[in-house]
Amino acid sequence: MHLVTRAQWGAQPPKSAWTQVASTRGVKVHYEGEPVPADLPDHHEWCAGRVRAIQAAHLANPTEGWIDIAYNAVVCPHSYVFEGRGPHHETGANGNQPLNLAHYAVCAMLGDSGLTEPNDALLNGLCDAIEWLRREGGAGPEVKGHRDGYPTACPGDPLYAWVRAGAPRPARAAGAPAGHTPPPGASGPSWPGGRRGSRGPGRGSRPPQPPEPPPTGNRQPPPEQE
Ligand SMILES: [Zn+2]
Ligand SMILES: [Zn+2]
Repeated sequence: MHLVTRAQWGAQPPKSAWTQVASTRGVKVHYEGEPVPADLPDHHEWCAGRVRAIQAAHLANPTEGWIDIAYNAVVCPHSYVFEGRGPHHETGANGNQPLNLAHYAVCAMLGDSGLTEPNDALLNGLCDAIEWLRREGGAGPEVKGHRDGYPTACPGDPLYAWVRAGAPRPARAAGAPAGHTPPPGASGPSWPGGRRGSRGPGRGSRPPQPPEPPPTGNRQPPPEQE
């Protein structure tokens, strides 16, 4: 997982202490709900600034009274997980306090125009963020959309379709070299490239996956791998 800490993206400190949560029922998925540049997938250098802008907008919001960026994490279309409030802190994004205590909130860098379709890298990042909140924050198994239990278009129809499908990790790790692509039929199609056919493996009978390629650069390997 490519975690970008608050210090690394240049977060402002919260206005007051976060509310601690021991655990949640799971995670709710969000989108930005405003225009996102369609060419953002070609410009990871924009992403940290975008997260700073989201935080600044939340801190300046006159009606919500947010003490910080509302999300526990923000995921960009390059698989990076930007730490928001982080694990064990109540989100402010789900609509009201009971909803905020029940689920963490992860926001995808997708909009209601421009970039509206999640790519595999973004979906892999969302899976990483959800697993991080389970591992570090006691998140339960549920993965839902903001619109579940609250009247909103969030997280948009394309991403909500992925949530409704069980939030599957794309079949091939983002950025994997072509030689590591499993042969056709060895695993399901990458989302949203297609639907599992009747000959495909059913959920719960996932075939062995090829090992992930070693990370590039000087990044340390993650402490644990599924
Ligand atoms: Zn939302
Ligand atoms: Zn990015």
